Amino acid sequence: ATPTALLVGTGRGAQLGILVKGPEALESTDGIDTVVLDKTGTVTTGAMALRSVRTAEGQDETEVLRLAGAVEHASEHPVARAVSSAAAARVSGLPTADAFKALPGLGAQGVVDGRLVLVGRPSLLAERGIALPAELARAAQDAETTGHTAVAVAWDGTARAVLEVADEVRRTSRDAIARLRALGLRPVLLTGDNRAVAESVAAEVGIDEVVADVLPEDKAELVKRLQYEGRSVAMVGDGVNDAAALAQADLGLAMGSGTDAAIQASDLTLVRGDLYAAVDAIRLARKTLSTIR
Ligand code: ADP
Ligand code: MG
Repeated sequence: ATPTALLVGTGRGAQLGILVKGPEALESTDGIDTVVLDKTGTVTTGAMALRSVRTAEGQDETEVLRLAGAVEHASEHPVARAVSSAAAARVSGLPTADAFKALPGLGAQGVVDGRLVLVGRPSLLAERGIALPAELARAAQDAETTGHTAVAVAWDGTARAVLEVADEVRRTSRDAIARLRALGLRPVLLTGDNRAVAESVAAEVGIDEVVADVLPEDKAELVKRLQYEGRSVAMVGDGVNDAAALAQADLGLAMGSGTDAAIQASDLTLVRGDLYAAVDAIRLARKTLSTIR
């Protein structure tokens, strides 16, 4: 291999807004045939907003936002940021949560005003033996069938509300994914979010292979499984929970807007905030390798 070609690849990458970790980063990209795309923050903008609040009977919406907002204020998850910023806008003087704990892939918990508050996927409540009353279960289902994320709120062992949170698919994602296909790649959507949300986003961007409800620690396992099946995998992600999968992939691409953990685990960083950069990166990797031969 000529190191010169790899260095030229690195320089060309910089012009395209692709930061290549080191000249060797492009070396293992031969025969990439699959591109695994994280959903939140990668295919979508990750800029989530609170769309609606459905309270259980007798619950006060402001109180729900006050307690949920206090817990989510301590979390860096995009869903949490949507909840805490909406709460801060509507409740003056959000309290601080004690004993905050992130529950990766599920939600978060904390103690506010002496109450143990849970905020997260409806399955988090189920896991703690807390039932969702019918009207909240319906609200969660309605949110999810429209591709939005349902966030359940409980304290003192009782479900209090379901919040609907959503972000937007990046304008460029559908076209960029079509271009990845045109390069002969099979796109796979990977997410910790639930199947209904995942299917809805996948349909919107033209992906038919969907892996949903994946716990953060299982994202790397999926990449491994695809590799075991003989596929050569590029992975695009942004979150802390994508880091292990990005490291496992034959080519790991981090969104420039992503977390440090994702960037450190990746071979390439896409400075521009869209998936066209992933198309350019794969073309660049192929071109660099063909120059070497
Ligand atoms: P993704 O793969 O979509 O980036 P994660 O694996 O981080 O998602 O989380 C999976 C799901 O768990 C999220 O879609 C969300 O429903 C829920 N979740 C995780 N953390 C939180 C939180 N702090 N607050 C509310 N919901 C959360
Ligand atoms: Mg993400």
